Amino acid sequence: MKRYNKVLRGLPARHVILKSIAAEVSYKSRDDDALWKHHDFLMVRYRKLLKEGGPLPKKHELSPSLLDVKIEIASRFLNSCRFCERRCGVDRNEKAGACGVDATSHISSEFLHTGEEPDLIPSHTIFFEGCNFNCVYCQNWTIARNIRGPVADPERIAKLIELRHRQGSTNVNFVGGDPTPHLYTILKIVNATQVNIPVVWNSNMYMTPEAMKILDGVVDLYLADFRYGNDEHAKRYSGIDFYWAATTQSFLEAKKQAELLVRQLVLPGHVDCCTKPIVEWCAANLGPDVRFNLMFQYRPEYQASRFPEINRSLTSAEALRAMSYAKKAGLKNLV
Ligand code: SF4
Ligand SMILES: [Zn+2]
Repeated sequence: MKRYNKVLRGLPARHVILKSIAAEVSYKSRDDDALWKHHDFLMVRYRKLLKEGGPLPKKHELSPSLLDVKIEIASRFLNSCRFCERRCGVDRNEKAGACGVDATSHISSEFLHTGEEPDLIPSHTIFFEGCNFNCVYCQNWTIARNIRGPVADPERIAKLIELRHRQGSTNVNFVGGDPTPHLYTILKIVNATQVNIPVVWNSNMYMTPEAMKILDGVVDLYLADFRYGNDEHAKRYSGIDFYWAATTQSFLEAKKQAELLVRQLVLPGHVDCCTKPIVEWCAANLGPDVRFNLMFQYRPEYQASRFPEINRSLTSAEALRAMSYAKKAGLKNLV
């Protein structure tokens, strides 16, 4: 979390760098391929500035910028949504996809959260409604399965981010449900935000590579949930396909792009089939030093009673076994 901590001391957050890179004025008239080409060309400049580090010139907010280009790409994705690996292909201007979210994002709450990892608090956490997963034990199901909060107006939320920053927030933490269905709205919020603050993407990591490419340069830290060690259990409890392939590719990409804090909610009865392969994969592919939070607070909620094997809390023997697997795998940077 080296760079993240430097942003807290004044180094530009990634989105601030994006805003300092001028885009072609007529970028909106380009077709999709040409727009991606322009994006990729400007990302070379982004990577150079990121590598160089240091402060940006005083007048650095340019319009249109590389972030505007990303917003335009994301807005086109809404016409045939493929933000996540469900790849619904729906026109979200017309209707919602499997996540329950149409083109308009809603939030259920936002506040200064002190219950996140010690590295991240106080965290300005913004809860978006809807989710691309349908976890039978969801502890946030009132948020994930209902869309009834106020519309997430980017200008208004940007002002709230600035206010919470003055009140002591150390990051803005986009969560849900899951933030992925709200990618377009979140980019607009980040673009409207006038403060140098790290962006945290608090997600199940079921994004498509295309969505990850849009997020490159927006996110400072992926707060990334790794839940299942196999596709069968992901399907049974969260109703999704291709879990392992989709999320592992996102984790690898997240590691390339930004900083990473991995969370693993240990499920009762799933220490050997899920926790063990996850900690082993993370140690081998993300490195033994990856920041890793093994979480033991599972409690059966929502529809967990339909699944007797997870309709209970974790035992202390399971928690100890999970911890010993993590250590045996070589993970050294446990929260
Ligand atoms: S974000 Fe929603 S609409 Fe888009 S692909 Fe995923 S589930 Fe479908
Ligand atoms: Zn399992």
